[in-house]
Amino acid sequence: MGTTFDQLADAVLAGTPATADDALAVLRADDADLMSVVAAAGRLRRAHFGNTVKVNYLVNLKSGLCPENCNYCSQALGSNAPILKYSWLSKDEALRQAGAGLQGGASRVCMVASGRGPSNRDIDKVTEMVGALKSEHPDVEVCACLGLLSDGQAERLRDAGVDAYNHNINTAESHHDTIVQTHTYADRVATVAKAKAAGLSPCSGLIAGLGETDEQLVEALFALKALESDSIPVNFLMPFDGTPFENTWELSPTRCVKILAMARFVCPDREVRIAGGREMHLRSAQPLALHVANSIFLGDYLTSEGQEADADIAMIRDNGFVVLGSDEEIAQRPVDPAIRRRGAGTDVLPNA
Ligand code: SF4
Repeated sequence: MGTTFDQLADAVLAGTPATADDALAVLRADDADLMSVVAAAGRLRRAHFGNTVKVNYLVNLKSGLCPENCNYCSQALGSNAPILKYSWLSKDEALRQAGAGLQGGASRVCMVASGRGPSNRDIDKVTEMVGALKSEHPDVEVCACLGLLSDGQAERLRDAGVDAYNHNINTAESHHDTIVQTHTYADRVATVAKAKAAGLSPCSGLIAGLGETDEQLVEALFALKALESDSIPVNFLMPFDGTPFENTWELSPTRCVKILAMARFVCPDREVRIAGGREMHLRSAQPLALHVANSIFLGDYLTSEGQEADADIAMIRDNGFVVLGSDEEIAQRPVDPAIRRRGAGTDVLPNA
């Protein structure tokens, strides 16, 4: 690469977008240059998100029993992974689970259900849950993740108070049909577009480690940029036994950090979330990755357990970051000057 990673960060900060070649250079950086990559990507992270980490909490409303065949998914048709399988949680149970995440420090709750897409009755269930959650916790941000949307469903979710909709493109268009055959890449993109058109904040990301090439990882990231995804969950494949990807181990901790750094260079002002596979693949490099990414899931994932939620929060604090929305973070926000409305020129007692 002709320019250094620091020079690339300078250019991106000055408004020149990173190119596909720049992204590839980040992804293929020598491990000896890892700290240069992190320092440069970290400047972009700090410019847009300071020292905050957004904490998200997953509630799996309906687990397993999915008719789709996404090869990477433990909930898919044909998966023999011994995961929990259940149909819809009751509203009260969903609220209880979401409340635990909020209590633990999350500011966004991601309400997820397995399946190709929701029926209108499923949308009724979710809108009822979201209404109840928002009346108990007015400040919570809610993201729904219910699969492929039919016309009108995104608008109903928005009207019920849903803030964001997650639907990952998962991989490059050129690789998509090798990882799932029951729906198309175009189906996925159409759902992200429907959510965005309805005014929901689009959340769409990818899974690394699915046999894609470096160029396909770059292709996927530029597709997410073009889709204007506000948040980009970066998952690292968890190769569940009983799925077609069992025993597929393509990732190392340093590669995962470089993938996150690449996402930061390509989409500098977007929420880059370290998602599934964080503990399994980043391992002791998790704190390093926080200098590049600005968002994580707290605690457990949909069908697998994460590290203890307390350890997630301690990792954030120990490394000099603050949880977005926490008292600590609110206290460090700049305070606008308070316009004087008392004393001279008013009928109100002076501050004396
Ligand atoms: S990713 Fe979603 S649609 Fe695909 S198999 Fe898993 S639950 Fe079903």
